[in-house]
Amino acid sequence: MAFEFTHWPTEFPGRAYITQTFGANPAYYGKFKLPGHEGIDFHAPSGSPVFALAKGTVRDINHTGLLPSGATHAYGVFVRIDHEDGYQTTYAHLERPLVVVGEWVLGGQLIGLADNTGNIKSGDSHLHVTLKRFPTGQPGWKSNIVDPRPFLEQLLTSPGVRRLMTESVDDVQQLRYLVEYWEKQAANYRDLYLRASKPTSPTPDRKPV
Ligand SMILES: [Zn+2]
Repeated sequence: MAFEFTHWPTEFPGRAYITQTFGANPAYYGKFKLPGHEGIDFHAPSGSPVFALAKGTVRDINHTGLLPSGATHAYGVFVRIDHEDGYQTTYAHLERPLVVVGEWVLGGQLIGLADNTGNIKSGDSHLHVTLKRFPTGQPGWKSNIVDPRPFLEQLLTSPGVRRLMTESVDDVQQLRYLVEYWEKQAANYRDLYLRASKPTSPTPDRKPV
């Protein structure tokens, strides 16, 4: 079966809020030679559970939130998981991981607790997820980065998640909110992709948040 997201990565459905979409804030992320925000931010209070988006194998963990040099890693404490079809997810700014390298995890498995470690512009606790695909990423994006949005949309409209969301009126409203929000973003995405095909200027002095 082809790679897909099977589970929402934060407490769901009560806290299924997107706080920053892929490609957002191009002016800020241009400093890092990125066309925009290189992942998706999910509302996640400090200490709240973080779940794997799909099954896979834990490839890498940063326990300290530091680079080998001792400087702060932009992603802080993070967990990175390899999935099928060359896809890889990174869960950043964690308080701590709850898995070990080499561990096989299922979609929806608790893999860590959220926090605000690493470089965060706002300082607020949240979950940042980066999706990558190997050997080729998305044109215009460096480091094998790809847009997770199609996978999230598929997840939101999957029968299991839809059933979960229709259990209360609030959840249906939340689903509607998310879909509308993404639709509003669509035009922006197209602009960003066009812009991404053009070279961006300054040399980054630190890694993106
Ligand atoms: Zn982010």
